[in-house]
Amino acid sequence: VLELRNIVKAFGSNVVLRGVDLAVDEHRVVALIGGSGSGKSTLLRCASLLETVDDGQVLLDGEDVTDPRVDADRVRRRMGVVFQAYNLFPHLSVLDNVTLAPTAVHGRPRAEAVEEARGLLARIGLADKAAEYPDRLSGGQQQRVAIVRALAVRPRVLLLDEVTSALDPELVGEVLALVREVAGQGMTIVMATHEMGFARQVADTVAFLDGGVLLESGPPAQVLGEPEHPRTRQFLARVI
Ligand code: ATP
Ligand code: MG
Repeated sequence: VLELRNIVKAFGSNVVLRGVDLAVDEHRVVALIGGSGSGKSTLLRCASLLETVDDGQVLLDGEDVTDPRVDADRVRRRMGVVFQAYNLFPHLSVLDNVTLAPTAVHGRPRAEAVEEARGLLARIGLADKAAEYPDRLSGGQQQRVAIVRALAVRPRVLLLDEVTSALDPELVGEVLALVREVAGQGMTIVMATHEMGFARQVADTVAFLDGGVLLESGPPAQVLGEPEHPRTRQFLARVI
């Protein structure tokens, strides 16, 4: 579904990504791990075309979407992106947050989008919050709405950047449970995360970024259990 080839990205003289290759197959979950500043967010932003790459390609369903002739907006519509926090539009109700992109961007009839949004909200137990504004929801509820909103456009791939790291510990579980459920339904997911236990349980592949280099990737049991690289071992010793 998604393939990153030799992604290079610098901010001024700070080279943040040094040629990253990553292929994400359909229905697979890739967990991106690595220390602070290793380039996880930048990689997800490059993958979702929120940043331009200095070199390399992003392929979505085989199409090179980094080609300057490609309409980036059209490509972004096929991806769902959720960040650490502040994902929802504060001035829109929960329901309007979820229906905005399907109607305004994808041109789907409002009644249909509303029906689907209500179904999605019911699935996460928030049907009764449809008319509320985001600031009336807990952080965990807001993040679950953000994930459901990203799903409402039926993306080819869901990119999640530390979606639980701004949450109080007791709210982390409900968000991870939703990610797990979405993964179980076959969504293709790339998630930057500090939740190693979750990565081990849910990811098919764990990819370790260090200083903008993808040092190793493979099944969780291998990368988290028997890492090959000393830098990976060091990192895991610090976080687990
Ligand atoms: P964290 O775990 O803290 O979220 P990360 O792995 O997501 O870290 P990035 O946010 O990708 O790391 O940052 C990698 C490097 O890129 C850092 O040195 C950061 O200062 C730099 N950087 C990121 N975004 C920008 C930007 N918009 N302008 C300048 N430098 C940036
Ligand atoms: Mg980050």
